[in-house]
Amino acid sequence: MQAGIPETRDLVLVGGGHTHALVMRSWGMAPVPGVRVTVIDPGPLTAYSGMLPGFVAGHYSRGDLDIDLVKLARFAGARLILGPACGLDLEARLIEVPGRPPVGFDVCSIDIGVTSEMPKMRGFAEHGHPAKPLGPFSRAWAAYRDSADAARIAVIGGGVAGAELSMAMAHAMRGRGAQVRLIDRGEILEELGARASSRLRAALHDAGVEPVERADVAEVTADAVRLADGRALPSTFTVGAAGARPHGWLRGTGLDLHDGFIAVDAALRSSDPAIFAAGDCAHLAHAPRPKAGVYAVRAAPVLLHNIKAALTGGPERRYRPQKDYLKLISMGGKSALAERNGRAVSGQLLWRWKDRIDRKFMRRLQELPDMTAPLPVHVARGVREELGEAPLCGGCGAKVGWDTLSAALAGLSQRRGDIASPPGDDAAVLTFGGARQVITVDHLRAVTEDPALMTRIAAIHALGDVWAMGAAPQAALVSLVLPRLSPALQARTMAEVMAVAEEVFGAEGAEIVGGHTSMGAEMTIGFTVTGLLERDPVALSGARAGDRLVLTKPLGTGVILAAEMRGRGRGDWVAGAWTMMVRPQGDTARALAGAHAMTDVTGFGLAGHLSGICASSGLGAELDTGAIPLLPGAPELSAAGVRSSLYPQNRAAVPGLPEGGVADLLFDPQTCGGLLAAVSEGLTLPPGAAVIGRMTEAPGLRLR
Ligand SMILES: Cc1cc2nc3c(=O)[nH]c(=O)nc-3n(C[C@H](O)[C@H](O)[C@H](O)COP(=O)(O)OP(=O)(O)OC[C@H]3O[C@@H](n4cnc5c(N)ncnc54)[C@H](O)[C@@H]3O)c2cc1C
Repeated sequence: MQAGIPETRDLVLVGGGHTHALVMRSWGMAPVPGVRVTVIDPGPLTAYSGMLPGFVAGHYSRGDLDIDLVKLARFAGARLILGPACGLDLEARLIEVPGRPPVGFDVCSIDIGVTSEMPKMRGFAEHGHPAKPLGPFSRAWAAYRDSADAARIAVIGGGVAGAELSMAMAHAMRGRGAQVRLIDRGEILEELGARASSRLRAALHDAGVEPVERADVAEVTADAVRLADGRALPSTFTVGAAGARPHGWLRGTGLDLHDGFIAVDAALRSSDPAIFAAGDCAHLAHAPRPKAGVYAVRAAPVLLHNIKAALTGGPERRYRPQKDYLKLISMGGKSALAERNGRAVSGQLLWRWKDRIDRKFMRRLQELPDMTAPLPVHVARGVREELGEAPLCGGCGAKVGWDTLSAALAGLSQRRGDIASPPGDDAAVLTFGGARQVITVDHLRAVTEDPALMTRIAAIHALGDVWAMGAAPQAALVSLVLPRLSPALQARTMAEVMAVAEEVFGAEGAEIVGGHTSMGAEMTIGFTVTGLLERDPVALSGARAGDRLVLTKPLGTGVILAAEMRGRGRGDWVAGAWTMMVRPQGDTARALAGAHAMTDVTGFGLAGHLSGICASSGLGAELDTGAIPLLPGAPELSAAGVRSSLYPQNRAAVPGLPEGGVADLLFDPQTCGGLLAAVSEGLTLPPGAAVIGRMTEAPGLRLR
């Protein structure tokens, strides 16, 4: 989003395939003002096919071939929705994604690749591993490679991909008594010319791969591939590489298909003028081509141009795919074969050439240019220092520091007799006759461009205060600031926000009773929540010396979100943090209802919130740093010096603790953090709760 310019059109990129990855990069360098971009993909990381065989063989790490969609989405200013698109409503202009409100679009592009699943082959769904999508395949392979002693591998489908994969697997498992078979119902490598085919056959032989030709597979079991002629080939890792199947859900979209692939014209436009398609999932009606990454990659500039034309007006470009392309096929070890127009050469030099091409391609997607706009030359004194090196965090990382807040609260007086708690606990306790109600408010600067995810985060975060008091959520008021949007985009956004808010609060038995919306510089979402108390609130002040300290979620959201905003967050770490953040804690809080003291760990970090319990209870605490659960990626990012905006103030508020290691993460502001409870020895802990230390008579915080 660009400040001040209203967003009036929704562009949705379905799938983070090779074409869309390049489109996202180019979009980030030259976005069209007024367009809100959404990317939908089931996973935060997608794999580059060119380097997959090299990864399987052990020449590359997984990171080498990861296309990080979280980073690319941040770079493109896009929201990323992690989930598979599963339907398209052409009339309502909506894309369905399970578990969330549908996503509206004005212009849409589909680049979801293909699948090598074999739904009709008995046992394949249970025991087989489709080579595509590449991400899940590479994870399954890595797990097998690290665990199998005597590898028994069968690759079904003797095309180039199957041959490359079988040689790569044989290479990775060499010296471990591996048996690798390449099975085809016809002859292997039929699509290649005679020279290339015979060279690759020789390479397969050298690699110890046994071709099994004119063989029909009848069934895949956990330890064998059974052929129709009765033979059973031992296999504990069976790969499906037999051709490219279109994703089945496309059949229900109403788009014109060709053998299940989206038929597109020379402008990459489908039968619906607002919907484009590219890569393997598209059928180029004007120039049919085999499914290959090279066509997906070359389509990117044309797709980008035509998407921009659809959004702004202007002429379209035609995609003229090349007739043939240079196939560079790796042969297990660091040696490759090049084939074009029937000519073939092979050797180590070609592998090095392929490696250079592949790495160059990946650098484009992994090393994104810095697009930060420079500051004007003349700014007020202090502006540069205040801005610092990093952008302002979202979520709790954007909170005002503890010292500033407590100084502001110190001036408040408590005059009413029906307010039963001092300011500063998680929620205020109000009394009405015999009834007691808690009330709290939380409001967050967006940590994601996705209003639905942000609503879920803000709702869970706000509920944390009610849960921490031991109250049952009752009612919620929404307070929402949206960036400037056209009425149509406002309506789409509001529909997503309200659907998610209703779902999250409804699951806790609470209702949305109203709210307030306005437009402002950026998206912020908050909730005022009330809860009912059936028993005494679990206040900060009730901890007893000797109590176990229990934490119900891992630490690290602050550092991971800070890294993500700076384009340094690894996609899987960020996705892990999102998943943890939106995990509700109602059941956990109910299991901890007998705690002596409880709070939710939020902006002031574990150290700050624990200090609050200590100060209110007149005690100290000892933390076992080795027992504190941490989100994957948090220690690495913290050690690399990534800090949330609020970190320095959190550190200053609780002086005296050591620097480095886990100690630094005690000051990491948490969004939707876990519950921190002081509980007696006898209390049964909820699943996932970690005992991280004890309350002590001696004041202050200590680490061991
Ligand atoms: C082992 C192997 C090696 C190969 N080597 C080469 C090579 O060297 N050169 C070459 O040109 N080609 C190669 N290919 C072919 C190449 O992989 C594909 O042509 C290329 O990946 C196609 O890119 P794409 O843009 O269509 O989508 P893909 O790269 O396949 O990506 C599709 C994306 O869509 C996402 N997705 C899937 N379903 C959904 C959904 N429902 N909703 C949202 N997102 C979804 C996936 O998660 C994925 O991120 C190879 C293939 C294999 C299997």
